[in-house]
Amino acid sequence: MALIANLRHYLGDDLSLVKIPAPAATLREFMGCLVEAVTLRDPDDENYVTSLKCRHGCDGDIIVFFDPNDPSPIKWSCFFCKDEGQLTGWEGTVWDKSSGQ
Ligand SMILES: [Zn+2]
Repeated sequence: MALIANLRHYLGDDLSLVKIPAPAATLREFMGCLVEAVTLRDPDDENYVTSLKCRHGCDGDIIVFFDPNDPSPIKWSCFFCKDEGQLTGWEGTVWDKSSGQ
């Protein structure tokens, strides 16, 4: 089942890293790494293989899909177990390394 998440739901009103329960914080960190990876990648890489490991502990690498012309949501999936999700609300967060931030 795909994980559909809005990163802002895991942050304070000012996008700060508020204290949240550990499982949610782990997920927030995972999603933050996705945002960082995709906004730092070579813009020519449509399907970018990150150095992130699957949150289910399998051997899969996480692939992110990102269209600069339609940048939200970020879509990602595990190459191995096909875990996948979509992420919105990432713009302007601490992990957003796209130009202008
Ligand atoms: Zn996996």
